[in-house]
Amino acid sequence: MTSELIRQTADQLAQALAAGEVSSVDVVQAHLDRIADVDGTINAFLHVDADGALAAARDIDQRRAAGQSLPTLAGVPIAVKDVLCTRGLPTTAGSRMLEGWIAPYDATVTAKLKAAGLPILGKTNMDEFAMGSSTEHSGYGPTRNPWDVERIPGGSGGGSAAAVAAFEAPLAIGTDTGGSIRQPAAMTGSVGVKPTYGGVSRYGLIALASSLDQAGPCTRTVLDAALLHEVIAGHDPNDSTSIDRPVPAVVEAARRADVQGLRIGVVKELSGDGFEPDIVARFEESLDLLRGAGAEIVEVSCPSFVHALAAYYLILPSEASSNLARFDAMRYGLRVTPEGDPSAETVMAATRDAGFGAEVKRRIILGTYALSSGYYDAYYGSAQKVRTLIAADFAKAFGTVDVLASPTSPTTAFKFGDKLDDPLAMYAQDVATIPANLAGVPGLSLPSGVASDGLPTGIQFLAPAMADDRLYNVGAALERMLLGQWGVPILTSAPELEVVR
Ligand code: GLN
Repeated sequence: MTSELIRQTADQLAQALAAGEVSSVDVVQAHLDRIADVDGTINAFLHVDADGALAAARDIDQRRAAGQSLPTLAGVPIAVKDVLCTRGLPTTAGSRMLEGWIAPYDATVTAKLKAAGLPILGKTNMDEFAMGSSTEHSGYGPTRNPWDVERIPGGSGGGSAAAVAAFEAPLAIGTDTGGSIRQPAAMTGSVGVKPTYGGVSRYGLIALASSLDQAGPCTRTVLDAALLHEVIAGHDPNDSTSIDRPVPAVVEAARRADVQGLRIGVVKELSGDGFEPDIVARFEESLDLLRGAGAEIVEVSCPSFVHALAAYYLILPSEASSNLARFDAMRYGLRVTPEGDPSAETVMAATRDAGFGAEVKRRIILGTYALSSGYYDAYYGSAQKVRTLIAADFAKAFGTVDVLASPTSPTTAFKFGDKLDDPLAMYAQDVATIPANLAGVPGLSLPSGVASDGLPTGIQFLAPAMADDRLYNVGAALERMLLGQWGVPILTSAPELEVVR
């Protein structure tokens, strides 16, 4: 029973719950058991809230028994990246700086999950303050990839992706500032969506780079992502960058899954050199399937995308250096008091030295430098100009095609330690995902197959702002064809995890 329940999609669980075939308490308990069995190995969770999740499940079961009409996903459990505030629960952003901090309020995303009746299983591991592509920068130890526990699950949202891929949760929330939902999805054979910037509220999301951050779904199927997208999206007066327009019809699009006549642009600059041959092979097979289903595939050029990584690594550290200034030992979390006669300044310095990891410090230094007088125009100013050019490249491309496509990440999941001493190699993981963040457009990654090393590969689609529905349409169509091609959902090709209870 337990193993059957954890393998269901969120859509299947929602239907079984609505039909009264299973209770939310059973569904939640099955996932808590799975977490107890495998998370000692995977380390997807920083905090498991068994009592809270079961209480929420009981409440949903009672309301259903009383005949109340409930939202679609009511009773389906979810895991939340530890960068979103959850009232009464620890929220650390993967940093020792916030160890023991209990959020006094809910992020809008969290509040929407609760209002829709999704029991929250716990908080997932991540690179510290969402900086990284492997979760090796977490202050609480890395998450392991369920496909091969010697390998990284991607990052920064490796915990959310691994939780979903290891069947510890049917759904999870991630955040994507430069690729942290999509790249972990590609590494773990799951689905990840970065919605249009402003499509999902950032209120209560611990800021990395405010002009880039966006929360979104981590799931095992495109339809599940659409169902979750609908729950978390929408205008929020608490976020001044939130878009006050109707949520795109993502669920309808995922159910439609029809690419007849759809124009798909393959971005010349986001494939080829530096991408592993198997990733390119799976990408091209996917394009063939789409062509066979009636899509028109054309090559497009977005020349400024080659500068996206460089621009991002000026804009992101600049915003991060400013956002992280609030961790000053006075307001939140850690406080380290040095020996002798401590002053506010020495307490701040000692706290920031002890509380932040090496990657966070590196970026604070980089950002402070890029913003400093005399260098601002040369670095931050130039990067902002590149950002404008990237947005213009997208606008031009979307003048001729409906969606863009590329491999999600240049490599499959690498071994722990492989890129830890080489920040630039780590940064290159996001070469294909970052342009979307810089321009604010939505992106979806789904598994395109398995490479010859047995690890999953990802394909990403990009659409114009507020046309997120197009991603779900093309993603669901490809998913269905790949299922036919591979015979089974790609995730079921992953080896069984050892139970370590
Ligand atoms: N890997 C990228 C970085 O380190 C993206 C992070 C993210 O999207 N949060 O900045």
